[in-house]
Amino acid sequence: MDYEQDFDFENRLVDTNEIPEDRIEMDTDNPLRPKTLSEYIGQDKVKENLKIYIEAAKQRGESLDHVLLYGPPGLGKTTLSQIIANELGVNIRITSGPAIEKPGDLAAILTNLNDGDVLFIDEIHRLNRSVEEILYPAMEDFAIDIITGKGQMAASYHLPLSKFTLVGATTRAGQLTAPLRDRFGVILRLELYSPEELSTIITRSADILNIKIDNEGALELASRSRGTPRIANRLLKRVRDFAQVLNNGFVSLDIARLALDKMEIDELGLDRNDRRMLEAMIRFYNGGPVGLETLAAAIGEESVTIEDVYEPYLMQIGFLQRTPRGRCVTAEGYRHLGFDFKGTNSTAVQPNLFDN
Ligand code: ADP
Repeated sequence: MDYEQDFDFENRLVDTNEIPEDRIEMDTDNPLRPKTLSEYIGQDKVKENLKIYIEAAKQRGESLDHVLLYGPPGLGKTTLSQIIANELGVNIRITSGPAIEKPGDLAAILTNLNDGDVLFIDEIHRLNRSVEEILYPAMEDFAIDIITGKGQMAASYHLPLSKFTLVGATTRAGQLTAPLRDRFGVILRLELYSPEELSTIITRSADILNIKIDNEGALELASRSRGTPRIANRLLKRVRDFAQVLNNGFVSLDIARLALDKMEIDELGLDRNDRRMLEAMIRFYNGGPVGLETLAAAIGEESVTIEDVYEPYLMQIGFLQRTPRGRCVTAEGYRHLGFDFKGTNSTAVQPNLFDN
């Protein structure tokens, strides 16, 4: 069976990475992004701590300590960085690890910041080494050393910077180098959202987008959104189309169910690709253990996508386990896909030792 051929990468509705459709064309700013901590739903522990740190920094008239946010894509890291800047009443500059190619690029960004400003670097684990080394003294001493020219003409300048706050976001804190990680005073982990929290987010988004939806409809979408607000908002926009054509624009439980079934998103939020991955593991590897690279090759997917996009949710709902010898489908995973679990991989299943 050729699994690769059947994968629908272009139209993956439950992809956690941002796609252009997630932004609203009429507005360069996404109107669904909450602007204040009180509008930001869920992540209570993170919010509580941030509130204190922000308040304390404001009272002292100092810049906020550098903040590292980590967790799977689509959980609200970018949103939170904008909220931090907003609550502090400062400007934010947004960039990402892969976008900063040379040390000079970062130097240009840093020298343009004002006191208190927030610099948000998404995917900070993807900064290259020479750029990262500029960041160390910038974070610690608010200064950078720039070397110009070569050989005898070389000159070194010590350049003081404004006291900025770096907010770094990463899907994998484990991949950050120790010197970088150690320079963050605040490290916060975002968790997948509960269906109730997602339902609140959906209702709020529906309100902003002028979509009529009832509680049952919202909860149905929420429970199929893989714990991820980005997916919840995306499903809402798609379901709206069905509601518009079939139900006078009203998203009821029946319409939500019908639309999600048509989109082949099952009652747990798994789409065709999740099911195919689990099925490939069961059929070809006896449910595992199977190594990440082997699995990636078998389904024609990048291993980072498997780790960042597929696995967090499949592990959260207990369908997949990571073991030192590879990934395994659990008995619940077998059952959900309609396979008999013969316990063949049960001896391989061990506690999750490699959770990053
Ligand atoms: P990340 O940076 O972690 O990939 P984003 O911050 O881009 O995620 O969030 C994705 C979308 O989900 C945002 O556009 C926002 O509308 C929505 N969102 C995320 N977190 C929340 C939240 N706590 N409350 C309401 N909406 C949220």
